[in-house]
Amino acid sequence: MALIVQKFGGTSVGTVERIEQVAEKVKKFREGGDDIVVVVSAMSGETNRLIDLAKQISEQPVPRELDVMVSTGEQVTIALLAMALIKRGVPAVSYTGNQVRILTDSAHNKARILQIDDQKIRSDLKAGRVVVVAGFQGVDEHGNITTLGRGGSDTTGVALAAALKADECQIYTDVDGVYTTDPRVVPQAQRLDKITFEEMLEMASLGSKVLQIRSVEFAGKYNVPLRVLHSFQEGPGTLITLDEEESMEQPIISGIAFNRDEAKLTIRGVPDIPGVAFKILGPISAANIEVDMIVQNVAHDNTTDFTFTVHRNDYQNAQRVLEQTASEIGAREVIGDTKIAKVSIVGVGMRSHAGVASRMFEALAKETINIQMISTSEIKVSVVIEEKYLELAVRALHTAFELDAPTRQGE
Ligand code: ASP
Ligand code: MG
Repeated sequence: MALIVQKFGGTSVGTVERIEQVAEKVKKFREGGDDIVVVVSAMSGETNRLIDLAKQISEQPVPRELDVMVSTGEQVTIALLAMALIKRGVPAVSYTGNQVRILTDSAHNKARILQIDDQKIRSDLKAGRVVVVAGFQGVDEHGNITTLGRGGSDTTGVALAAALKADECQIYTDVDGVYTTDPRVVPQAQRLDKITFEEMLEMASLGSKVLQIRSVEFAGKYNVPLRVLHSFQEGPGTLITLDEEESMEQPIISGIAFNRDEAKLTIRGVPDIPGVAFKILGPISAANIEVDMIVQNVAHDNTTDFTFTVHRNDYQNAQRVLEQTASEIGAREVIGDTKIAKVSIVGVGMRSHAGVASRMFEALAKETINIQMISTSEIKVSVVIEEKYLELAVRALHTAFELDAPTRQGE
């Protein structure tokens, strides 16, 4: 008999009918003999609706009060699901974060879980009940309701699984697993049976939005096996785990991630002296702007060009800061480009294979796609290219690294 934490997202509990379907599903698992803890999100659209209400009162709602309000979305779905289970003869009980006692810090709207009291849940499970817990919320040491940040129910699910030492945390959603890349860009993308926490973190941080990033960090830290599954379709989903298989089958690249969220800034003709990188990026970080990729070249006239990327939302701000810096340090000019995209190949297989980056560059060269910036880590190679070539690049790389699904006959 296993202990399983199942998390259902907003679309999976988006209507009363869907909640009934989820109840059916949970009932089947229960009948299979497993202990089940269910974590649910608010009905899809509900959290946005609540935030909108608050914004009608004030553009910047008081964070504590916002938490009191947005946490109601999940309170509705836990009660509905518990009712639907009880109606089916499945003993069930619902709890808010406060009732479980999911203790968090006091950072309203983005709280971190500090501790989970597992006693109540354990005794309910022992008594044969399915326990339904509100995702996304907790309580601080003073009894204030807190929330964990958008998409935070994933983190609740993983944290509960860690606290209960569950055998698996299953995240049910509207896709049937994690794919080699976005199937809307590459129709031949394939569902991965397995991926490591590390790879998933890279994929998630690069824009593949299946899971909240924090939940993956959490799962990796506490080694909670995490499985992404479709709420209403049968299938094995994708298992996210620690172990890297030592098999010959292990592909070098597990997936291709991309995003269009970044913009590029270059400051040209910077005096090439010690401390200049700090002079350029110090004010950027003081303005609370995060920098992603950085490239610096040395030119022969003792000046250098310094290029970095920021989130597109920060672009104008960063440009202003950089122009100020340019005049202070006597740089020639500042130029910027928002029409860029970042494409990354991700895979733990890279650790044991040479030539992965050159294979990537070869595939891009064949399509005459110019590479503007490059960065690498142990399990990732990223390039910045012109935005209009993004889809072409992703498709070319998907093929070059043999990730395309075999075409069936007649297709
Ligand atoms: N309901 C919250 C949100 O929409 C939490 C979640 O869905 O995970 O962000
Ligand atoms: Mg969600």
